[in-house]
Amino acid sequence: MVTGENNQAGCMLAEDVRRYYLDTMGIQVWQSLEQPPDDMETEAPANRDIVWQQLEQAVSSCTKCELHASRTQTVFGVGNKNADLLIIGEAPGRDEDLQGEPFVGRAGQLLNAMLAAIGFQRDQVYIANILKCRPPNNRDPKPEEAEACDSWLRQQIELIQPVVILVLGRIAAHKLLNTDQSLGALRGKQYNYEGIPLIVSYHPAYLLRKPVDKRKSWQDLKQIKYLLNSDGSPA
Ligand code: SF4
Repeated sequence: MVTGENNQAGCMLAEDVRRYYLDTMGIQVWQSLEQPPDDMETEAPANRDIVWQQLEQAVSSCTKCELHASRTQTVFGVGNKNADLLIIGEAPGRDEDLQGEPFVGRAGQLLNAMLAAIGFQRDQVYIANILKCRPPNNRDPKPEEAEACDSWLRQQIELIQPVVILVLGRIAAHKLLNTDQSLGALRGKQYNYEGIPLIVSYHPAYLLRKPVDKRKSWQDLKQIKYLLNSDGSPA
């Protein structure tokens, strides 16, 4: 049983962690946000689980583009399959290719910090890439590779039915929005991806190289939080 005193201690700890994450992001100014959602669904019906399993199995044996030949393994996606927030990045890097999970390593840690700053734990959102296999030497994905992989991500989006999509980085934004504008021109606006609000922001790997832009990233995260709250989903 959780006593009021223990509960208060837990809240203080959570606040400390959140402030640590904000410090990590270089954010000095902080406004109190509401607690993370505690009523998010965590289990899908059995038939949806089967569809997810079939989809992941199909991706794991995919040979639709040349990247299948050089991958260690496919990087399908990770997180809450009923998530309100779907995060989409570019493609697996070396660590992701080895571990089979998107956004690991230092960029993944920064993403976790960014999520914590708006009240989410990593396992409360779903994280995927537009490409499921690593391009050699981390080169940019070729258009034909992104096109070949597109149906896998579309099926994931259809199954998750997120409230908001956060797209991280120029490559993913170009693919999903069918544009070649700079990331600086794309962020700060709200888009519509087949009826779902979509926000573009900086990739954590970029923010590690250029931390001065973390403040702009924070503005994007606040917009995400606003969209989720205005929908009434995570309070
Ligand atoms: S990148 Fe996508 S389309 Fe290409 S082999 Fe991997 S899963 Fe298939």
